[in-house]
Amino acid sequence: MTLPLEPAATAVVVGAGLAGVRTAMELRDQGFAGRLVLFGDEARAYDRPPLSKEALLDGDLPAGAELLTAATAAEHKVNFRPGVGVARLDRAARRVIATDGSETPYDVLVLATGGAARTLPHLPADNARVFLLRTVEDARALAGALQPGRRLLVMGGGWLGLEAATAALARGVKATLVDQADRLCARSVPAEVSTYLHTLHHAQGLNVRLGAPCRVERADDGRILLGGDSAHPFDLCLVAIGMTPNDGLARAAGLACDNGVLADPAGQTDDSAIFAVGDVAAWFDPALGRHHRLESWQSAKVQARRVAARLLGRTDAAAEAPWFWSEQGGRMIQAAGLADPASRLIGFEDGDRPLWRYGRGETVDLVVGVDRARDLRMAHRALSQQRRAVEEQPV
Ligand SMILES: Cc1cc2nc3c(=O)[nH]c(=O)nc-3n(C[C@H](O)[C@H](O)[C@H](O)COP(=O)(O)OP(=O)(O)OC[C@H]3O[C@@H](n4cnc5c(N)ncnc54)[C@H](O)[C@@H]3O)c2cc1C
Repeated sequence: MTLPLEPAATAVVVGAGLAGVRTAMELRDQGFAGRLVLFGDEARAYDRPPLSKEALLDGDLPAGAELLTAATAAEHKVNFRPGVGVARLDRAARRVIATDGSETPYDVLVLATGGAARTLPHLPADNARVFLLRTVEDARALAGALQPGRRLLVMGGGWLGLEAATAALARGVKATLVDQADRLCARSVPAEVSTYLHTLHHAQGLNVRLGAPCRVERADDGRILLGGDSAHPFDLCLVAIGMTPNDGLARAAGLACDNGVLADPAGQTDDSAIFAVGDVAAWFDPALGRHHRLESWQSAKVQARRVAARLLGRTDAAAEAPWFWSEQGGRMIQAAGLADPASRLIGFEDGDRPLWRYGRGETVDLVVGVDRARDLRMAHRALSQQRRAVEEQPV
């Protein structure tokens, strides 16, 4: 496929989460004049971070979480098809076949199909006692069940599980969190930050049990047992054990996938007419020397901007270092950069608002701070410059 896109071209975006909506809006904002179709299999397009925060406290998404209204879509001349999924890709004919049977040809296709909550086969979600947390329906169901005095078991000591546990405690629910890893958020932050999180949540009344394989099952009356302990059943269980990328559509169409749709450092897959963005996309990361999939709001937004720029032949959408935030226990935790197993703690500011710097030698590659928005902004800027220097190096 030849880029930049012709003014009369058709761009089709599959998935109306943050990455898909931002891709469509960026294409328009950056000057694309062609036909733009956005398919989303959910009834509406909304932001997910509030689902584990405000929505669990208030019972629904806050105003402002809507990503794309019919009016904004019309204003931007986006043919937004909420509630219509894409069932199949016909790469040879360059068209998508939707769940309503319609066929839409494309010149360029952007896959933004996100991910789905991982489930436990022996503990299927029923929205009565067992819950997941990925969609607005999940959040509403869980929020409705968080009644004072109930006992909640959170499976999974990652960001999502911890945020949900924070909300549950605020609602007067007794919460226990289990993880087979021996520390919290072990996949994304180093041990010192995990220790901080553990202390924070323990002080707020969360019962944290780590480091043991957890056998969770249902009692005859439907309640949840941990390790077969029928003396201390739980009323509710949240399964928060990560997500799996929705790469089935891409796989079925023969695109290269490996825990996500594989793409080059600017989002192009092994089919030159197909790009991938957001939680489903594993872009090649020159800094790491391998493909890497990020599950973060900022990454989805940056990738959307970069893909739109690439499609329009612009070179002004620079790479950014990863940046992530989480709100838990009344604190704002932010991380800029990526944890590298070879990195060591090279700087630490103690106190009520701690800050950790990790790196190799003098080179910082990850900064984590608690209620340190300004420091994290500066760190993110510096790490982004570092990243651009790596990406601009000739291969
Ligand atoms: C509860 C929760 C809290 C979070 N909190 C934070 C946070 O505090 N900070 C942070 O940085 N990140 C957070 N994240 C992560 C962030 O929200 C995601 O990284 C972001 O939503 C990714 O956007 P996406 O568009 O790639 O994927 P998604 O949001 O998953 O959107 C993909 C969309 O595509 C649709 N779709 C899938 N297949 C098809 C198909 N075949 N046809 C049409 N549509 C399809 C899906 O139904 C979905 O609507 C959170 C995520 C969750 C779930």
